[in-house]
Amino acid sequence: MARLAEFEGIIRREEPLAAYTHLRLGGPAEMLVQPVTVEQLAGVVRACAAEAVPLRVLGSGCNMLVRDEGVRGAVLRLSEPAFVSVVVEGKVVRAGTGASVSALISAAARHGLGGLETLVGIPGTVGGAIRTNAGDRAGDIGTFVRRVEVMDARGGVLTRDRDELRFGDHASNLDDPVLLSAEFALEGDTPEAIVKRMRKAWITRKADQPAAFQAAGRIFKNPRGLNASALLEQAGLARTKVGGAEVSDRDPNYILVHAGATSRDVLRLMDLMRAKVAEKFPVSLEQEIAVW
Ligand SMILES: Cc1cc2nc3c(=O)[nH]c(=O)nc-3n(C[C@H](O)[C@H](O)[C@H](O)COP(=O)(O)OP(=O)(O)OC[C@H]3O[C@@H](n4cnc5c(N)ncnc54)[C@H](O)[C@@H]3O)c2cc1C
Repeated sequence: MARLAEFEGIIRREEPLAAYTHLRLGGPAEMLVQPVTVEQLAGVVRACAAEAVPLRVLGSGCNMLVRDEGVRGAVLRLSEPAFVSVVVEGKVVRAGTGASVSALISAAARHGLGGLETLVGIPGTVGGAIRTNAGDRAGDIGTFVRRVEVMDARGGVLTRDRDELRFGDHASNLDDPVLLSAEFALEGDTPEAIVKRMRKAWITRKADQPAAFQAAGRIFKNPRGLNASALLEQAGLARTKVGGAEVSDRDPNYILVHAGATSRDVLRLMDLMRAKVAEKFPVSLEQEIAVW
């Protein structure tokens, strides 16, 4: 059985994670591991299990807040070529989970395959998007997933077929330690129709999101039948600040991060948002963003 010590070449110790996340906050990972091959990944996963080292996978960190104290254990990044390919065969697109959502959408559109274009403008990797079932009312990624290849805690590769997969509101039942690749079943369409829908989705999303130059994260799930942004708006939270963290006035379900902000500021602001909404409505907001 391989030991983690055998993988020193692909491990960076005490690597600051802020630069790998959208909010650019948080402390270091005890070990940041970037495997080059699936076999190497399997060795790392097995070694982590044998040495009782916690293991997590980081995508683009767009749905993620890393605490200031950082993360113990191993953080995997699937950024090497073995994990980022996007291949189109007929009406099926196969993508590594380290590929970006935008690369997936572009490849599909270039081959005249429609469906995924309503996701345009959602940042992140295919792995993060599948795990969080990224999307909105116009459509979500889960609708098009026909198969996902995953790795279990023993380093074994398994296939999860459509009938095993469940996608809900910003959630999926994919709780395997590592998602490796996914197949999407799409429909042929004309480039004009795809581009038209893409443009519409882009305009709608950009009108709602904070400006692109701002580091912002979407924070809470929509409670059943309700809208988190509307609840936060009605609780008067827009522009509320804690330290360098501020509730967006464009969509109060986003927190903006200003220079000098810490993860602690964001966490305290999240607590305040939750408390103010609970004071006004019989609702307990559940966080959508992963906190490590
Ligand atoms: C400005 C902005 C706008 C956004 N707009 C939307 C939107 O309109 N709709 C929407 O749904 N979301 C939106 N999001 C949220 C985010 O873009 C999605 O959740 C995104 O797809 C996350 O991908 P990621 O690679 O950044 O995942 P990360 O944030 O890195 O990870 C998210 C979760 O997935 C897990 N994960 C990632 N990759 C793997 C893997 N290969 N194997 C196992 N687990 C994995 C992580 O461990 C973590 O639990 C937005 C975020 C931002 C910052």
